[in-house]
Amino acid sequence: MGPGPSRVPNRVLRALSAPTIGHLDPQFVELLDDTCLKLRQVFRTENPLTFPVSATGMAGMECVVSNLLEAGDQAIVCVNGLFGGRMVEVMERHGIVVHRLDAKWGSSFTEDEVADVVHRHPRAKALAMVHAETSTGAHQPLAAISKMLHEEGMLFIVDAVTSLGGHPVEVDEWHIDAVYSATQKCLSCPPGLAPVSFSPAAVEVIERRKRPVDNWYFDVGMLKNYYEGRSTRAYHHTPPVNMIFALNEALAIILEEGLEARFERHAHMHKRLRAGLEEIGLEYVPDQSLHSMNCVWIPEGVDDAKVRSRMLDTYGIEIGGGLAEMAGKVWRIGLMGHSATQANVDLVLAALVDCLE
Ligand SMILES: *Cc1c(COP(=O)(O)O)cnc(C)c1O
Repeated sequence: MGPGPSRVPNRVLRALSAPTIGHLDPQFVELLDDTCLKLRQVFRTENPLTFPVSATGMAGMECVVSNLLEAGDQAIVCVNGLFGGRMVEVMERHGIVVHRLDAKWGSSFTEDEVADVVHRHPRAKALAMVHAETSTGAHQPLAAISKMLHEEGMLFIVDAVTSLGGHPVEVDEWHIDAVYSATQKCLSCPPGLAPVSFSPAAVEVIERRKRPVDNWYFDVGMLKNYYEGRSTRAYHHTPPVNMIFALNEALAIILEEGLEARFERHAHMHKRLRAGLEEIGLEYVPDQSLHSMNCVWIPEGVDDAKVRSRMLDTYGIEIGGGLAEMAGKVWRIGLMGHSATQANVDLVLAALVDCLE
C-alpha cells in the first residue's frame, strides 16, 4: 500500500510463469496484438500507436519526450512535485529548451495559470503535465487545459503513471497527444513495462522530425514496425515475453471489472480511508487528492521510520515515506488496483492507530 508496486493478483503471477516462447512465435504475436488492443481500451483511445515500452515508467517518459521533441525545441513543463521535475531533467538531457511553470508541492494547476504560461511562450511545441503526482498525491484535471492548448496549436504530453487503471484517463476525449504509464501502479502487474500511446497528430510530428530520434532503443519509428506490423514484423529488440503475458492478464482483469466500476471502487476506498485518517487527526497534503495515492502530513513528534518499519514488521503493510523536500514529513498510502479493497483500508487504519500509539 505504498506508491507502487501494488499487489499483483495470482492470475497475473500465474500468467507470468507460463512457458516462455519466441517473440516472433505466431501465438505470441497474437497475444501482443491483443495486449495492445486492451491497452487502447484502458487508455480509451483509437490511437494505432499504443504499445508497452519494454522498461519501467521512466522509460515511458524518456520515449515520449525523445520522440516528440528534438534538440532546440521549446517545451513547457508544469512542476508541482518530483515527477514534473524529472520531466524537466529528461528534456534537458535531450537538448530541449524547457520553460518551467512551478507550483507549490501538493497544489494542482489552474486553467488560468497554464493559459498564462502558454501565452508567454507561444513558440513552445508541447506542454507536459503529470496527471497523478505520486510524490504529493495531487490530482491534475486535464480536459479544459487540453482544449486551450490545442487552440494554441501545442501538443499535450501527460504522465498517467499513477492514474491509469485507477482514475479515468480519456486519451481521445481529452485530446492527449502522448501519454505514458507503468504496470506496477493501478494496473497491478509487476514493474517492467511502460504502456504508451501517441495520437495521429503526434505521429505526424514524429515523421516530420528534422533529425532522427537521439536514442536507438525508444525510437518509435522503428518500434512501430514491430508493434503495429501485420504480416512482416521486423526484429528490433526481444520484448520481455513473460511480462507481456502478465500485462495481458492484468488488463483482462481490469476490463472484466469494467473501467467505470474500477474507478468507482477507487473513489469509494479513498473516501473510506480519508474519513479514517482524518478521524485520527491526519491531514491530507494536496488540495485535490488522488484516489490512488493518499498523502498525509506526519504529526509532529512522530518518528517516520519507526512507524513505517513497525507497519511492515508487525502487519506486513508497506506505506511510502516522502520524497525529496517531503522526506520525513509525509506518508503516502497507495490504493492502487488490486490493493484498493475495504479489508486493506480497514487494516491500514487499525495498524496506523496502533503504531501511532
Ligand atoms: C512511478 C512513477 C514514474 C516512474 O515509473 P518507474 O516505473 O518507477 O520508472 C513516473 N511518473 C510517476 C507519476 C510515477 O508515479
